[in-house]
Amino acid sequence: MGQRQHWHHQSAHAVIEHWQTSATGLSDQAVASRQRRYGANRLPTPPPQSRFLRFLRQFHNILIYVLLASALITGTLGHGLDTAVILAVVLLNAVIGYVQEGKAARAIMAIRHMLALQASVIRNGRRHSVAGEQLVPGDVVLLDAGDKVPADLRLFKAHSLQIQEAILTGESVAVDKQVAPVSDDAVLADRSCMAFSGTTVTSGQGSGVVVATGVDTEVGQISGMLADVETLKTPLIEQMAVFARWLTLVIVVMAGLLLAYGHLVQQQAFAGLFMAVVGLSVAAIPEGLPAVLTITLAVGVQAMARRHAIVRRLPAIETVGAVSVICTDKTGTLTRNEMSVATVVAGGRLYSADDAGYAPIGSLWLEGQEVAADAVPSALQVLIRTAVLCNDAELRKHEDDWQVEGDPMEGALLALAGKADLYPADLRRQWRRTDIIPFDTDNRFMATLNHDHEGHGSIYLKGAPESVLALCDRQLAANGDVVPLEADHWHRQAEQTAADGQRVLAFAFRPVAASQAVIELADLQQKLVMIGLAGFIDPPREEAVAAVAECQSAGIDVKMITGDHASTAAAIGQQLGLPNTHRTLTGAELDRLSDEELADVAAGANVFARTSPEHKLRLVKALQSQGMTVAMTGDGVNDAPALRRADIGIAMGRKGTEAAKEVSDLVLADDNFASIVAAVREGRTVRDNIRKMIGWTLPTSSGEACAIVVALLAGLALPVTPIQILWINLITTVSLGLALAFEPTEAGTMRRQPRPRNDPLLSGGLLWQIVLVTALFLGGVFGIYFHAMARGYEVELARTLAMNTLVVMEIFYLFYIRNMNSASLTRRMVQGTPVVWLAVAGVSIGQLVITYLPSAQSIFETRAVGWQDWLVVIAVGGAVFVVVEVEKQVRLREPWGSG
Ligand code: ATP
Repeated sequence: MGQRQHWHHQSAHAVIEHWQTSATGLSDQAVASRQRRYGANRLPTPPPQSRFLRFLRQFHNILIYVLLASALITGTLGHGLDTAVILAVVLLNAVIGYVQEGKAARAIMAIRHMLALQASVIRNGRRHSVAGEQLVPGDVVLLDAGDKVPADLRLFKAHSLQIQEAILTGESVAVDKQVAPVSDDAVLADRSCMAFSGTTVTSGQGSGVVVATGVDTEVGQISGMLADVETLKTPLIEQMAVFARWLTLVIVVMAGLLLAYGHLVQQQAFAGLFMAVVGLSVAAIPEGLPAVLTITLAVGVQAMARRHAIVRRLPAIETVGAVSVICTDKTGTLTRNEMSVATVVAGGRLYSADDAGYAPIGSLWLEGQEVAADAVPSALQVLIRTAVLCNDAELRKHEDDWQVEGDPMEGALLALAGKADLYPADLRRQWRRTDIIPFDTDNRFMATLNHDHEGHGSIYLKGAPESVLALCDRQLAANGDVVPLEADHWHRQAEQTAADGQRVLAFAFRPVAASQAVIELADLQQKLVMIGLAGFIDPPREEAVAAVAECQSAGIDVKMITGDHASTAAAIGQQLGLPNTHRTLTGAELDRLSDEELADVAAGANVFARTSPEHKLRLVKALQSQGMTVAMTGDGVNDAPALRRADIGIAMGRKGTEAAKEVSDLVLADDNFASIVAAVREGRTVRDNIRKMIGWTLPTSSGEACAIVVALLAGLALPVTPIQILWINLITTVSLGLALAFEPTEAGTMRRQPRPRNDPLLSGGLLWQIVLVTALFLGGVFGIYFHAMARGYEVELARTLAMNTLVVMEIFYLFYIRNMNSASLTRRMVQGTPVVWLAVAGVSIGQLVITYLPSAQSIFETRAVGWQDWLVVIAVGGAVFVVVEVEKQVRLREPWGSG
């Protein structure tokens, strides 16, 4: 592809010929052979970091440094066993970290693949949506506002096409595109007949032939672009990492002071004291916390993906659980976006249509009489012709099922044509399209200019009734005569149809001179002939009704923001169970309100109709000014500012444009409102699990560490040896705590009010929890130790009992923390989850091994424990559980964080 730089200098025709293609696109065989020849249209991903390096990176961690330094010291002191245990612990810790990190990274990679780019192509003369990776040179690609250009294209059609090429040229203002060749030496930014891979269409429509794919594209030449690897970094993880680092520093300093105090003041032997201080540091340092939180987030990302909500920006996973208002589109999100025409008004008559999905079969009915195919009144014929020609969709039969390629509403119009035995393909062949004004949400109409073989020209237009009527001055009578417009009559008709929950579209046309080859807005003003209306049904999704109810119990407001008619929107809102649907606000009404007034009324209204994308931005700001955490959905390129501004911007995965996806935090793979609510539920679960993880790690670390500190300060014998503490902290506590990352959603999660925006994770309540648990752990460990000594057990056995008590208390505490939000002991809670039981079983086996296996006994200085003593150990754990549970019942009346 040495001529890459010259395509812009050649005529579109020459380029099309060069690639042996045509406006009808490539054949399947040509695509297959070119795919083999040119490979997939993707940029190479950076090679993954080597496993060895990833493993080595696990050692880059303050805790590990402390441990390695300790191993060095014990080694030089000649304590070979201690050194070996510390090194074994270091190694094990790195292996666990490596495995965990791999899991998190895989979760993120899997998500990335779900966001693959789609492209609209013409192949075999038909429009298809294919994965961007499958494009080959010679493919004919269609571009629409909001699309990301999927490969380098030589344009051969462009209607008001503008493309933003900042990623290549740095210029953020969109440039106009056209089809004529430009000078050979034009720089990239001036190659106006080209569209480059990775740039974004901001408005208009166009078509082009692919001239370069993958690394041969302009963007493929910029090697620096390739290195964007996603890491699991969120503000929370970073805060926790900073917190953990500071805490580590404080602990290391305190440990140093304790060492000095014990050795110099209390005159204790250095070697034993040193190991005790190492054990204490390891117990207290929460270095592993950021890593386990990362796992919690990764598990959450996966859970959301399973529920069709794909997290694009990781910090979103922390915010989504706090959402207090969801502003959502109607069509396709709350409704099924399976349109069918139910009523047609033309020539003063009201027709009804059979509902056969998108199948172009069935009949039209007039006052109970079937309309015969050979007696379709003239006005109805003109309406259907307009509906078919001013239309970009196609119907396709998949086995027995008819499906739409393109806009479902336009698909429904094609199905309508079938009911009058009119064939879209014939009409489109007869009336070739010469020009188009694409639909846009500001104008709310679409117009085309078509010519037939005899040279007649006509403008066809469809759009929202108010917009269309504003352009008309005449109307079509039943017999095909053109008579003066009765605008009021049409407005009433449209209002009536909309009040039924139907989406209403109006149609108009105007004959023009054969010589006219372009249409401009000026050709439409007050010059059109109104033909009639069509009413579409698009029923609410059943799951959306349930999701709206779930939001109500979870204290989340749902606001429908739609471009549709106010009456249609209100009727659908009512079917969905939204409160206050009688209070609809229209875009025009919003325009009359100041920002302050809007902030006052926005919270009270739930249906916003005939809005434009700019209104979404104002609404987001208004709701945020009321302290709400706002989730906002969008699909078009103009929705981008609102999506960016919202706390959670949500793009539609199917009907959304790439431009909307790119600025969003979440992408809904199924465009379904229920998936947003599922994401909120998962977000709350993640937040709960993070709280549990912190509420687990800090108090247990503190309890273990304080047991050593108290013993040292009081000059007592250690109730648990340093090596035992290393074992408990790095193996037992971590394994048990990790189970919390997989905790399912608690039963009452969606019955709680949303948490305040900046609810801190490290709160006074947590501090209390740390004090309480530390006191209980101290009581348990020393209690059993002294009890054993009093019974005349040897000190090794007493320590074995104390160590096992610590672990049993942790297991009981784990069950407590799993349900920190609910007030009572339920069967579900005690049942636990497979992961929890797996962790408990693993840890128990580990404890039995180090208690009974002779070789382990010699390393850990343990002794076999009799069954009566086990009963005491378990009773102590049970007692701790009772105390924390009782405390929880009291505290839950005044929660320390509503999560
Ligand atoms: P939502 O915002 O819930 O997705 P919507 O799809 O109805 O709602 P828009 O796409 O902004 O919102 O459409 C607004 C109005 O424009 C529609 O009610 C319809 O009257 C008209 N309209 C929509 N699509 C087309 C189209 N392809 N051609 C002509 N008019 C259209």
